[in-house]
Amino acid sequence: MSLKLYNTFSRKKEVFKPLKKGFVGLYTCGPTVYNYVHIGNLRTYIFEDVLRRTLEAHGYTVQHIMNVTDVDDKTIAASKHAKKDLSVFTKEYEKAFGDDSAKLNILAPTRPFVRATEHIPAMIMLIQKLLRKNYAYEKGGSVYFDISKFAPYGKLAHLDKKGLKAGARIDVDEYAKDAAQDFVLWKAAKAGEPSWPAPFGSGRPGWHIECSAMATAYLKQPFDIHAGGVDLIFPHHENEIAQSEAAYNKPFARYWLHGEHLLVDGEKMSKSLGNTYTLRDIEKKEFTPLSLRYLVLMAHYRTKLNFTWQSLKSAQQAYRELVEFTKELIAEKSAAPIKTAHSYASYEKKFFAALDDDLNTPKALAVLWQFIRAYHKAKTTYPNAAYALLLKCDAVLGLEFAEVTLLKIPLAIQQLAEKREQFRTEKKWQEADALRAKIEKMGWQILDTDAGSTLKPRM
Ligand code: AMP
Ligand code: ZN
Repeated sequence: MSLKLYNTFSRKKEVFKPLKKGFVGLYTCGPTVYNYVHIGNLRTYIFEDVLRRTLEAHGYTVQHIMNVTDVDDKTIAASKHAKKDLSVFTKEYEKAFGDDSAKLNILAPTRPFVRATEHIPAMIMLIQKLLRKNYAYEKGGSVYFDISKFAPYGKLAHLDKKGLKAGARIDVDEYAKDAAQDFVLWKAAKAGEPSWPAPFGSGRPGWHIECSAMATAYLKQPFDIHAGGVDLIFPHHENEIAQSEAAYNKPFARYWLHGEHLLVDGEKMSKSLGNTYTLRDIEKKEFTPLSLRYLVLMAHYRTKLNFTWQSLKSAQQAYRELVEFTKELIAEKSAAPIKTAHSYASYEKKFFAALDDDLNTPKALAVLWQFIRAYHKAKTTYPNAAYALLLKCDAVLGLEFAEVTLLKIPLAIQQLAEKREQFRTEKKWQEADALRAKIEKMGWQILDTDAGSTLKPRM
């Protein structure tokens, strides 16, 4: 089956063909590391992870590069506020981002995060090239890209050229979404802010130049796929295209993929609106990170997804059921004869066909549930083959079915836990607490979540 991806560039689903047989160069815009990322950001990173895993399931070797923005207005202001050195400050949040990603089973990029501050010379070279080719100009110690010089400007975002404000300039890092203006490539140094020497005066890079320089440094130009959230189409990705294509006179990236937003009460989850939750917030409410991953997979990446605690609760419940099914298979499979001849090939085919259709994860999950229902109804089952199928699907879903093991809970512990549950329903809290203490003394831990209680050996 061929993989089809929706290319923002053409506004169509296109059959994916890499530039080099067997290899894919993938660039995804990473976070600005001045705070914890929120679960809206994480939705985008999960979508990109599914993209990467789908490409790998097709046998491609993916070179995946992700940047972190570790110098801009926000990181500078926040590090000053925290009275910390910029690089010490940003590394703390970079690490937190790596930890959150790992908990969500998001594969790490194939190189460690590439940091803007460690690629300043490449950015300076690119800016020099743009100055030489007359696409850029200097003003007050800063350097700007002249959008009127780049004829295809607006081709990704499909901008109405009449809206272009030639000559108007923007040099803050917060960009208006509706005004196309000359944008800053290099900001003149300000007293008390970090700066780097450059032939056009000391200063620091603008946000867009960072991604142009780093993508090309590792993936060459052109490369295969560039991805991010929809809010990056304009101006960020439009400006990346302008810089890179003006400098090298060849295409930048071939496929542009954009994930829709996670909403709260119908509005985009964003730090500026103050309606964000972090992974820590959801863990505090005793939700497992992988239930968030499951929730995200339940929606197609190009549709908006409204976050509610109830939807997370349902996702956690469904995810638990998948884990229970995996356990059931593990228990059966050791005893069952190995029937290698049999496989559940039709489900496997349908599952991967859904993913090949522009990463349709809700459809793929629906196929998995169809399979589980059919498995439970069938007179003869082949647990070995079923388990193998689950693991294959999980290579893309990333729900860690391979990590599921059978936990043998001693009968005495099980009975105490059931008794405690009964006390809790009768609101006999003291008795319930006494049983919890007893269970803990016996080396087990009870985890109460919105979706019910579970038992785990104490660490
Ligand atoms: P930022 O740190 O704002 O540059 O965002 C990092 C990534 O998260 C980008 O790819 C954004 O497009 C994406 N993003 C930001 N807010 C949301 C949201 N509410 N839902 C989904 N993705 C988002
Ligand atoms: Zn970027």
